[in-house]
Amino acid sequence: MSIIRNDIPEFEFSVPVAVIGAGACGLTAALAAHDAGAEVLVLERDKRPWGSTSMSLGAMCAINSAEQRRHGVEDSVELFVADVMAKTEGRADAALTRVIGRESGRVVDWLAASHQVPLLLDFKWTGLGHSRPRLHIPPGRSGEEMLALLGAACERAGVQVMTEAHVTDLYADPDGRVRGLRVARPGGVVEVLGCEAIVLATCGFGGNQAMIARYIPEMAGARYFGHEGNQGEGIEWGEQLGGALADMTAYQGLGTLADPQQMIVPHPLLLEGGFLVNVAGQRFTHENANISGMCVPVLAQPRGLAWVVFDGRRNQACLAHSVEQRQLAEVGAIRQAGSWAELEKLCNLPDGSLERENAAIDAARAAGQPDRLGRSFEGTEPLQAPFCALRVTGALFHTQGGLAIDDHAQVLRSDGTPLPNLFAGGGAARSISGPDVTGYLPAVGIAMAITLGALAGDAAARLALSRDGTA
Ligand SMILES: Cc1cc2nc3c(=O)[nH]c(=O)nc-3n(C[C@H](O)[C@H](O)[C@H](O)COP(=O)(O)OP(=O)(O)OC[C@H]3O[C@@H](n4cnc5c(N)ncnc54)[C@H](O)[C@@H]3O)c2cc1C
Repeated sequence: MSIIRNDIPEFEFSVPVAVIGAGACGLTAALAAHDAGAEVLVLERDKRPWGSTSMSLGAMCAINSAEQRRHGVEDSVELFVADVMAKTEGRADAALTRVIGRESGRVVDWLAASHQVPLLLDFKWTGLGHSRPRLHIPPGRSGEEMLALLGAACERAGVQVMTEAHVTDLYADPDGRVRGLRVARPGGVVEVLGCEAIVLATCGFGGNQAMIARYIPEMAGARYFGHEGNQGEGIEWGEQLGGALADMTAYQGLGTLADPQQMIVPHPLLLEGGFLVNVAGQRFTHENANISGMCVPVLAQPRGLAWVVFDGRRNQACLAHSVEQRQLAEVGAIRQAGSWAELEKLCNLPDGSLERENAAIDAARAAGQPDRLGRSFEGTEPLQAPFCALRVTGALFHTQGGLAIDDHAQVLRSDGTPLPNLFAGGGAARSISGPDVTGYLPAVGIAMAITLGALAGDAAARLALSRDGTA
């Protein structure tokens, strides 16, 4: 995996725009490049595009979309920037945050109107740092559906997605201009192709243990629950070509990965009055203060484990709208009992522990006061039998650092000048989460993939066409 600067071959086959990676970022970039009039080729390592996108809940935040207007939601770039800055304590990149605020709604509208990719406004996640309802999600509410919709749109548009095409090296001039790619195909076949512009949509480096140990040592031993193909290759190529890296210590974590099933426990269970205890039956964190950052206190508990505690009514409500909860039920991960004493036994928790914690929450709610961990349960109903629990652990989802980019998702050197023809989006680019785990706002990951993908694809196409003499 390297940049080849000598012996650049004569490319027999060349495309104006090459996109590496067929996740949300790559497929959106390809659609945008196509709409801008350029021929585009997507190269994907896997046999079937999957990526972190398919593993996600498929929700992206977007500002000033037609969906928000349809629901009478008044939002603005300024409000979004203020929310991001509040979440990251002013440490997110302000210019990039404004770009996402300005462009995300337009991109959501364009995908719906031009490519039959409907992303509908969702009201479930309001209040976790977003001061307005901003989460847009496919009708079937899954990342798998989102990627399938984007894939079908590419097919309709005639965009070619070459699978089992692992890009291993880039050919580049001394000034950092990428001239072409080297691709490993099945059966040991190696192909080379030229390009005028290139979009890195290879996601982050969560699957690369050496990079995690280097940049995010606090998660070096933690479970990684993202796509294994996130090896950071795009980020490393960008750096070798002279691109600057930013926020490499930032990441999106999760404190509620079902253990041992390795499935996401839907957060609405906690939002709507459920709580977490450790294996000693004690609460230890404000469950909704920071969803991403919750992996840290969970992993700090004995055996790195905790229990999500809720009740039968909330379980039923969640089963009705959450694919994940249905899957958890199918594999028998949800424990249910008619009394606290029974649930404590089922979960091997100390006698009286759950009942005690629940009583303390009820008392705080009745007094209209936050509990001892600073969480207010106002507006939630007390838990009622039957009671339920799910065992969870903390995990690393997705890295948030990457290549520095400008308003068109073009990769920047550390002096702020752009590399000649290199673009990046999604997990390959820096995000707007500041420098650590606490700054991740819900649904920013796919917003960075889809919004920056659209900007990168469009700009790469324009650049390629202008060099081509076509525009
Ligand atoms: C479990 C989970 C839940 C999440 N939930 C949400 C959510 O609800 N909302 C949200 O906003 N974010 C969420 N995220 C984060 C979100 O999934 C990512 O931010 C987003 O999917 C990144 O998109 P991407 O296109 O950059 O990367 P990906 O979807 O990972 O696509 C990258 C693709 O590049 C390919 N690739 C990599 N290197 C090469 C190479 N050298 N050659 C060829 N192909 C290559 C990979 O195989 C992969 O298919 C979640 C993440 C996880 C893991």
